[in-house]
Amino acid sequence: MNVLVVEDEPKALSVVRAYLEREGHTVFEAMDGERALSLFGAFDIDFVVLDLMLPDRSGEEICLKIRSSSQVPIIMLTAKASEADRLNGLGSGADDYLVKPFSPRELVARVNAIMRRVRPLESAQTLRFSGGLSIHVAEQRVFLNEGLVSLTPAEYRILLALARRPFEAFTRDQLIVRAFGDSYDGYDRVVDVHIKNIRQKIEPNPRRPVYIQTVYGTGYRFEGEPS
Ligand code: CA
Repeated sequence: MNVLVVEDEPKALSVVRAYLEREGHTVFEAMDGERALSLFGAFDIDFVVLDLMLPDRSGEEICLKIRSSSQVPIIMLTAKASEADRLNGLGSGADDYLVKPFSPRELVARVNAIMRRVRPLESAQTLRFSGGLSIHVAEQRVFLNEGLVSLTPAEYRILLALARRPFEAFTRDQLIVRAFGDSYDGYDRVVDVHIKNIRQKIEPNPRRPVYIQTVYGTGYRFEGEPS
């Protein structure tokens, strides 16, 4: 999952980052509101952790701005603990809030709880689709009608990234970030080669794919029906 963490205290930022990365998330950091909004616009962000007190703009303002275009889950971090302040944070569209100082473990637990609610497939350990395709995340194994499918690590990561968000179109760049993180520095057409190989392995007829569709002018979309 791509998590945007907006926090102007470097120490708090690095602790939150470490805990989220340990859970396998890709973290994007912003230390002020402007940077937060520009990262949010440029990347495909799944979750926002937002400090209420920022040097340039208030967390509420950032929250409202994000909410004007997106339903992405948002957790607010606040040093303010009064009831009025909490209600204000939730009123600006946050899904939850944590009062500082908080335990990073609790933050991770809240992030996971919200994700299980809003995107069950994002956090599922086993993904099953009609046609007999299943992905077992803990073992990093893929089965087709009980038969093990032999995928390379890169193919597995791309398939998992697509399958966690069925029916959503992704550009090649978005897929690379989802599968390999934002530090990957490669040619985006390499995705096409991986997709071609994945289709050979999981599609009943790779020339007429049922799972991974090409979206002309954009990239790819996974169309397996969760079952
Ligand atoms: Ca702050």
